[in-house]
Amino acid sequence: MDANALFKISYGLFVLSANDGKKDNACIINTLQQVSSDPLMVTVAVNKSNYTHDIIDKTGLFTASVISEAANFELFKRFGFQSGKSVDKFENFPHYLRAVNKTLAVTEGTCAYISAEVVKKLDLGSHTLFAAKVEEAKILSDTPPATYAYYHANIKPKAETKKETGKTIWRCKICGYEYEGEDLPDDFVCPICKHGKIDFEKV
Ligand code: FE
Repeated sequence: MDANALFKISYGLFVLSANDGKKDNACIINTLQQVSSDPLMVTVAVNKSNYTHDIIDKTGLFTASVISEAANFELFKRFGFQSGKSVDKFENFPHYLRAVNKTLAVTEGTCAYISAEVVKKLDLGSHTLFAAKVEEAKILSDTPPATYAYYHANIKPKAETKKETGKTIWRCKICGYEYEGEDLPDDFVCPICKHGKIDFEKV
């Protein structure tokens, strides 16, 4: 089996936010789909290790903001590459509005938002699939939505391969971080995006 075949699937990118009653939190996902039109429903699959997962599991409410081609890498670092368990991801970040269901829509680097209420959930192992009824939706900008392929080609930092050193480089496929050394340890975790060895390629 070639698991790289799954990288050929086209995905959108979204900031998924929820509110635990005291704090707003959000993470980046590529797993939102519209799945029905009447009633209007979407699904999101959320990794169980994300704090946002636990909040949605408890409250059943979320807003997904559709990331656009105007997004910068800072947006991904803020919402994707740190944990809401230890930081307030909305600290010093004024670009949001509060949707009717009290969760936050991100208004910069995004082109629309969708607020929804969970009606069903399915345990899928690493992720939980939440099926949710759309309660509110709004277009924020005419900038096209960013695909995951667009993120890799245009948003994540360009590789600055250090050829001169003659040393082997392992590059993180998620964020572009480069590790210098012949062997990448099995338990290596990317210091920027926290993905493991499986997401590194030798260059
Ligand atoms: Fe990384």
